[in-house]
Amino acid sequence: MTVGFADLQQDIRDGVHEVCARFDLDYWGKSHEENTYPTEFVKAMSDAGWLGALIPEEYGGSGLGFTEGAIILEEVNRSGGNANQVHAQMYTMGAVLRHGSEEQKRKYLPQIASGELRLQTFAVTEPDAGSDTTKIQTTAVKKGDRYIINGQKIFISRFNNTDLMLLLARTTPLDQVEKKTHGISLFLIDTREVGEGMIEATKIPTMLGGDTNQLFFTDLEVSEDCLIGEEGRGLYCVMDGMVAERILVSGSALGNGKWFIDQAVKYGNERVVFNRPITQNQSVQFPIAQAYMELRAAEALMYEAAAKFDKKDPTAGADANMAKYLCSDAAYHAAEACMQTFGGYAAANEYHVNRKWMQARMMKIAPISSNLVLSYVGQHVLKMPRSY
Ligand SMILES: Cc1cc2nc3c(=O)[nH]c(=O)nc-3n(C[C@H](O)[C@H](O)[C@H](O)COP(=O)(O)OP(=O)(O)OC[C@H]3O[C@@H](n4cnc5c(N)ncnc54)[C@H](O)[C@@H]3O)c2cc1C
Repeated sequence: MTVGFADLQQDIRDGVHEVCARFDLDYWGKSHEENTYPTEFVKAMSDAGWLGALIPEEYGGSGLGFTEGAIILEEVNRSGGNANQVHAQMYTMGAVLRHGSEEQKRKYLPQIASGELRLQTFAVTEPDAGSDTTKIQTTAVKKGDRYIINGQKIFISRFNNTDLMLLLARTTPLDQVEKKTHGISLFLIDTREVGEGMIEATKIPTMLGGDTNQLFFTDLEVSEDCLIGEEGRGLYCVMDGMVAERILVSGSALGNGKWFIDQAVKYGNERVVFNRPITQNQSVQFPIAQAYMELRAAEALMYEAAAKFDKKDPTAGADANMAKYLCSDAAYHAAEACMQTFGGYAAANEYHVNRKWMQARMMKIAPISSNLVLSYVGQHVLKMPRSY
């Protein structure tokens, strides 16, 4: 029997839903309030094969595409969970898959697919560089067959819950390169093999809970085998990974948006004030309807971006950026509508609207802020002057 595309997608939704159903809202609320990593959930997703879904079958994964990847994360957030805690494992492996040597692929991908190895950390952001990645100051200096890494990173997620870390560092100083995007290299580091005192991690408490860190590297020594792709071309190795990330994050945002719509409709239809359900009032009903339409439109662009990315269409990058902008915006509008519908009850932790609202808000900032998408579209799609 041939399984159709739509059937496969529904099977994926059902399968992910089955895992998510084992972790209720209280599980996520506790993880959020106590700032603990949802280890059991991540393991369950891994064991079910969902985190290795995008790894090709020849390396032990399911060989699914990015449409399916986005659906997996959408379902996690739609269930009330937090897909941010698992999404990195799905896209960071792309740098190894597309730019790693055959030896690196064979060494890492099957173990990432099986969940034996966690690749949950991607260290790019630095305090002084911010969104301008070409200004990173972490350096990697070649000494014999080793690189010595010094510098710092900020807002690095899941460092205490990963085995492997992808890291961007400058191998040629900015003032010695022809183009500012040159001279940055990508390393895959096994954090379990790092010597004492070479990486110091300081936890950054955030409104999102979880595992966010500032990292300091002091003479961190790694083998030259850790280099992914060519030295000095690291930014190019992660660029398609960043497109992949935009698509997956669009799926996550969409899942949040749908969760808010579900909650707002259910609560609003049941809540009776002035002798009628509050959703009978157009000022309550219309923002929910509007956010729903925005989500549907953003979803269409996300599917287009995912299909293009899977087909290696060069316009996928622009669509993925736009989808990320629109999905996170629509999800935030749904979050606002939901919060307003819940009234004072939105503030009570037991309804989880506040926790999910924080997630939805932050997705307009990380992993790429809405302004940076607007400037990308203005410059690269519409050919207007560079605005920065
Ligand atoms: C919870 C959390 C987890 C994160 N996890 C990771 C991680 O795992 N790995 C990682 O590398 N990073 C991570 N980040 C960092 C995240 O990617 C950055 O915060 C984000 O890219 C924005 O960078 P910034 O905070 O330095 O903002 P800045 O670059 O300082 O920008 C601040 C504001 O100014 C705006 N702005 C800046 N320049 C311009 C311009 N030219 N035109 C218009 N507007 C502009 C931005 O849009 C933004 O709104 C995480 C952040 C958070 C909050």
